[in-house]
Amino acid sequence: MNIVSLSNSYDADFVSAVEKESKQNVSLCYQCGNCTAGCPYTHFYDIPVSQVMRLVQAGQRETALSCKSIWLCATCESCTTRCPNEIDVARVMDVLRHMARRAGYAPEPKVKTFTDSFLSSVEKHGRVFEMGLMATYMSKTGRFLTDADLGPKILPKGKLSFKPHPIVGKEQVANIFKRYNEERNS
Ligand code: SF4
Ligand code: SF4
Repeated sequence: MNIVSLSNSYDADFVSAVEKESKQNVSLCYQCGNCTAGCPYTHFYDIPVSQVMRLVQAGQRETALSCKSIWLCATCESCTTRCPNEIDVARVMDVLRHMARRAGYAPEPKVKTFTDSFLSSVEKHGRVFEMGLMATYMSKTGRFLTDADLGPKILPKGKLSFKPHPIVGKEQVANIFKRYNEERNS
């Protein structure tokens, strides 16, 4: 676990931006640690989720947005369920990930590459095309043998198609992406 200095400058704009985007009052967190105790990913985090909350309270933008934990979070919502102050902690983690992405932080580049490949597949096909997603992810990361052992097991069960699945409303899904990109760039 990293040691974080809270004596760095307090960024009030960061605190209010997280609160506004997540619609959560982070000052309610009294550091009981319940969220961290129930988080299945604590073992892999560089900063436990309760300490991420403390960083947000303390206005430590740089440290909060550059930590790996926000990219490893599985959005399982165990933290949210366990918080005695009814803070939607998972939502705060989600917001931090979005903020980090917009600010160009990607401390776990493979996670970002997977997410980008997933979204690009949904934009193009209306839903994820698993084989295409795997090909894009592997070509971008060079992880050609990732989960290669799963192929022979799931191919005969029809879980992996060599062609994208035809779906109703494909154009509408593409329009959602188009509208989002227009709003983001306006
Ligand atoms: S949502 Fe993320 S931070 Fe919360 S318990 Fe699950 S993995 Fe941990
Ligand atoms: S469970 Fe809630 S109050 Fe307790 S440390 Fe986590 S966010 Fe803070």
